Amino acid sequence: MSSKDWIEKDYYAALGVDKSASSDEIKKAYRKLARESHPDHNPGDTGAEERFKTVSEAYAVLGDEKKRREYDEMRSLFGSGAFRRSARGAGQPGGMPFDVSDLFGGGAGGGDNRFSGGGFTDLFSSIFSGGGGAGGGPARPRGPARGRDVETEVALDFDDAVRGVTLPLTLRAPGVCDTCHGNGAKPGTQPVACPVCHGAGVTTRNQGSFSFSEPCRNCQGVGTIVEEKCPECHGTGGVTKTRTLNVRFPAGVADGQRIRLAGRGEPGERGGPAGDLFVQVKVRPDELFGRTGDDLTLTVPITYAEAVLGTDLRVPTLDGTVTLRVPPGTPSGRVLRARGKGVVRKDGRAGDLLVTLDVVVPAKVSDEARAALETFAAQTPPAAREHLDARVRRFS
Ligand SMILES: [Zn+2]
Ligand SMILES: [Zn+2]
Repeated sequence: MSSKDWIEKDYYAALGVDKSASSDEIKKAYRKLARESHPDHNPGDTGAEERFKTVSEAYAVLGDEKKRREYDEMRSLFGSGAFRRSARGAGQPGGMPFDVSDLFGGGAGGGDNRFSGGGFTDLFSSIFSGGGGAGGGPARPRGPARGRDVETEVALDFDDAVRGVTLPLTLRAPGVCDTCHGNGAKPGTQPVACPVCHGAGVTTRNQGSFSFSEPCRNCQGVGTIVEEKCPECHGTGGVTKTRTLNVRFPAGVADGQRIRLAGRGEPGERGGPAGDLFVQVKVRPDELFGRTGDDLTLTVPITYAEAVLGTDLRVPTLDGTVTLRVPPGTPSGRVLRARGKGVVRKDGRAGDLLVTLDVVVPAKVSDEARAALETFAAQTPPAAREHLDARVRRFS
């Protein structure tokens, strides 16, 4: 992932949809473009492969309502020059001369970064958290400000969550463009005062006996106009900066768990302490196993004959197999327990594997099987339904 992705890439254009497109329209456009450019249909065509990547990347953001909102928000902020204004406002070199929490109301998270290697994909990166250490309000801190807390989300494979895993986490945060130091102007040039508001950033409009002040539309309230845009940030003054750190997820980490990594958030301003990093964990479902706390769950189909006569079942565990005794006369839905075959914690505590038996009924049987079953039925007492029969008789 290159930096500045969200600011620079127009995902709407990539999908050929309008900014106001509904999620259905986006999905449709994506499916069509993905089909057309799919590498399987265009072997050896690197252009198509590139298009496919672009389209997929765009859909990863626009196809997710939460990410789409953040993307829209970020682009409108960067595009409006909000970055330039705040960069100019604080104007301290180095450190963090702008206050992101001003720009991004609450905590936001999202952004997406795909790692293709190893046993994991989909590391969600970023983004800014609202609140956080620096105190939030307009009052400037006494002493070096603590860095902001960073909120991020990561999707783990089921196995990785059970066994524990170390993953590189890419974090994105808005930063001041190094090329223009945040003023948005091409090096060697300066922003000039806005001719409409004469640098005030607001215009006043009279309506009846009222007058309204509103942000100047010409300069979007910044007060200055960039005539020659900085090539690095395209005049916004801001870029997305990325950093990568390795995060250890302990064995048994659960879906929905929030992990706090002290001091791994944004660095502090001028030597202040760093903020914390909060990682929200999502665990992808496994195709076989489910999980309840430290217990793994598994459903195993058995035949009626196996349930009646009993059998030994060899079932998979996460890292091997285990043989379970099904005693004769076992009802459907019975749960068998394989002790210690669940999630094994670092301290040695382990959950169990809970195997639910599911008696399956064949949709079709051979003539021989039918005959045998009829013989069986004739030898078997009827099911215990007396308690229902009394009620049924009331209506007959
Ligand atoms: Zn720049
Ligand atoms: Zn203006």
